[in-house]
Amino acid sequence: MTERRVRVRFAPSPTGPLHIGGVRTALYNYLFARQHGGDFIFRIEDTDSNRFVPGAEEYIIESFQWLGLAFDEGVGVGGDHGPYRQSERRDIYKKYVQQLLDEGKAYMAFDTPEELEAKRNEIANFQYDATTRMQMRNSLALPKEEVDALLASGHQYVVRFLIEPGVEVHVNDLIRGNVVINSSVLDDKVLYKSADELPTYHLANIVDDHLMEVSHVIRGEEWLPSAPLHVLLYRAFGWEDTMPTFAHLPLLLKPEGNGKLSKRDGDRLGFPVFPLEWHDPKTGDISSGYREKDYLPEAVINFLALLGWNPGNDQEKMTLDEMIQLFDLSRCSKAGARFDYKKLVWFNHEYILSKDDAEIARLFEPMLRERGINEEFDRIVKVVSLMKGRVNFVHELWDTCCYFFEAPESYDEKSLKKWWKEPASTYVRELCDFIEQAPVFAGAEIEPLIMEWIASKEWGVGKVMNAFRVTLVGAAVGPHIFELTDFIGKEETLRRARCALEVLPAAI
Ligand code: GLU
Repeated sequence: MTERRVRVRFAPSPTGPLHIGGVRTALYNYLFARQHGGDFIFRIEDTDSNRFVPGAEEYIIESFQWLGLAFDEGVGVGGDHGPYRQSERRDIYKKYVQQLLDEGKAYMAFDTPEELEAKRNEIANFQYDATTRMQMRNSLALPKEEVDALLASGHQYVVRFLIEPGVEVHVNDLIRGNVVINSSVLDDKVLYKSADELPTYHLANIVDDHLMEVSHVIRGEEWLPSAPLHVLLYRAFGWEDTMPTFAHLPLLLKPEGNGKLSKRDGDRLGFPVFPLEWHDPKTGDISSGYREKDYLPEAVINFLALLGWNPGNDQEKMTLDEMIQLFDLSRCSKAGARFDYKKLVWFNHEYILSKDDAEIARLFEPMLRERGINEEFDRIVKVVSLMKGRVNFVHELWDTCCYFFEAPESYDEKSLKKWWKEPASTYVRELCDFIEQAPVFAGAEIEPLIMEWIASKEWGVGKVMNAFRVTLVGAAVGPHIFELTDFIGKEETLRRARCALEVLPAAI
């Protein structure tokens, strides 16, 4: 038998912003498709019109653009198996619903919501199945004339899947192994509603996976309970031979490890659970996103890749290409993965370090412009190269190195207490005179001269240089001081130091 082409899909329902767990699901599908030279399909599952949220589809597309994960086929991309939006596939589904009805594998049910409610009150743990269906109002229990009359009068109905009890259902799952359940625990799921002429998730999902030739269904653990039903639907249609292989990914857990990750955890601990900021069209509420919080998409992807999978060694930082090579569904864990957001901060720091200085400078530049700083781009790159190792986020660069771009407006009290003691102002005044008269200014040349001069004065290097540093930076922090003087130049160096001598008392 020839190997089947790998085709996987990411099939979100546009019911709101894409949760970070959904991004992990999409990423695993992407890695798997790329590794096998297969196709990654983007399908929108929007058959539940009650839950449709405007803007959600656009949000999902924009999220993947930001993350740099490209689909091969689907909504917004096109392809041979379209349309890829389920709401545009109504006629296709109708045909398959009819097939199941004709073959007696599904039936019409006319029970009203009130009748169902009454039944639930009457029978504890009521389930619409082999034990109860003959007590209900459906095409199996009612005489044919009555069914015809109901249909002729335009009575709304749903189509239910006829589940035979006592059948062993096997779900072949690459992560969980062979999962077996007995069909008696399943209910006769609704597959179609005449009211909106739309199928439910289950039917549309199976028909589309079949027609789109999906080979592997990789999705969140929350869909595992639906998998036996999906297997039975495949069988009912006679599509066993092309049944996809399943892989149900582990749950994402709270950072503390107890229970499922929720938006509230993010709010409580200060991290987003969405890729992009989301503006709720109904409530106007704004939820934070990784992009707006200044995370690098590469860091988010690397972090998510390791939530439920590891490459089998200690390697943590990986390029997307490395992930594609190493990814292995059989190395995914069944156990939930703790959402250790602090690790993501670490990844962000690592990616800032390893990225080109110019690339980081491009991200930092608008933050400088916003503050009215008109520094040349090459000089911003220089500052980035000196200082990026000290930050976890690009925006933190401003607080860490603003003194490269503007003179201090105030002086840190603690630093003054420590270094602006008698005779600090004498040190700085004399150092200014020395620098002024020195034949050179470049750090590499003047540093040894200054060291020699301090020694000849029998002063302490630390005391002199830290006092000097406070005048240039505004605090006893920053890079090697001659990196800063090289950057701001002789004139600005002397101006800052002398300005401090004027505004600060002789000693604190
Ligand atoms: N529409 C489902 C969702 O929103 C898809 C589940 C599946 O992948 O089968 O996640």
